[in-house]
Amino acid sequence: MPATERLYYSDSHLIEFEARVTDKTDRVSGWTAVTLDRTAFYPTGGGQPSDTGTLDDNRVLECIDDEENGVLHVIQGRAPELGTIVRGRIDWARRLDHIQQHTGQHILSQAFITLFNAPTHAFRVLTDACEIDLELKNPTNEVIERAVELANNVIWEDREITIKTVTAEEAARLPLRKDPARAGELRLIEIQGFDLTPCGGTHAYRTGEVGMIVVRTWERAKGLTRIEFAAGTRALADYRRANKTARAVAGLFSSARDDAAKLAARMLEENKDLHRRVRALEAIAARVEAEELLAEFPPGATGIRVVTKILADRDAEALKHVAQALVTHPHTIALLGSSDKESARLVFVRSAEAPGDMNTLMREACATLDGRGGGRPDLAQGGGKHIEHLAEALETAARTFS
Ligand SMILES: [Zn+2]
Repeated sequence: MPATERLYYSDSHLIEFEARVTDKTDRVSGWTAVTLDRTAFYPTGGGQPSDTGTLDDNRVLECIDDEENGVLHVIQGRAPELGTIVRGRIDWARRLDHIQQHTGQHILSQAFITLFNAPTHAFRVLTDACEIDLELKNPTNEVIERAVELANNVIWEDREITIKTVTAEEAARLPLRKDPARAGELRLIEIQGFDLTPCGGTHAYRTGEVGMIVVRTWERAKGLTRIEFAAGTRALADYRRANKTARAVAGLFSSARDDAAKLAARMLEENKDLHRRVRALEAIAARVEAEELLAEFPPGATGIRVVTKILADRDAEALKHVAQALVTHPHTIALLGSSDKESARLVFVRSAEAPGDMNTLMREACATLDGRGGGRPDLAQGGGKHIEHLAEALETAARTFS
């Protein structure tokens, strides 16, 4: 069977065509794969996803490159009869998006070679952006932005992009950006005066069609530099999302958008200072509260004072402050608890000469609360999710000393 004639090789902007059905096979998915004598559909390959569209009234969900049978068009619905002529139509918005990302990648990859001699190892089109893995030593924001600037200048110079076919011998004498992936005749994509690369993908007619390239983020990955970029309509969509987020944050500060980061940093600093100040005030309040609790819980017949109390709205740190203020008094045991909507907290502390193993008591109490905790014989902390058993857990611990 003759291989499919690939119309997208000679014209990346052809979106309507007619072709004859040469074969059809059932897929395990329950859909049908249709083969045509010619097609404008680009199949998945080279980091570029497949086109979608229609064959007559049937949706083309995906196209697959089959070495032996040519391009398989996976369609939803009733397959056309063998030998009939069908009308194909490519989803242009998706094709344009792929043209922009793919051509953008040629330009950005060449920019990194021109400036830093950093070749590209891999290219992936993601949902909202694209990724390239570069052999770029010592990446920084400044280095990457220099390449982005060169790439955008090449885009705005609106250079011509041409396709030519050469033999392997001719190719060997040309300054190709990357080695050809296959032998025999080669399809070369030339960006006038900038880049020459063997490639089977779909490209813009001129660089201006790519619109713009932006880098969203980058990271070191497996010895390479992984750069996430967006071109064309994806760059615009990304700008809209970023602007929306930045304006929402600015709105919280009633500030101009570009002042928001500075204000957020200042607020975090202030928050840290406030936190320190609250802790200092809590320590003072804890001493006053401890005095009141000592009056409320006098020593028992054995001379031991057991303070058992649930205090409202305290975190573990605040409970510990009160407990430690209590046990500065001799023969004192503090069994304190607190809770919010989600969990109960406990702190058990005793003064040095008071009896009891706080660690053991805490483990038992935490079992009652269905939680966990522990510590030393003189100080233990813990908590659990059964808030309704908090009073019972404290009473059980207190009974040890009666
Ligand atoms: Zn390409």
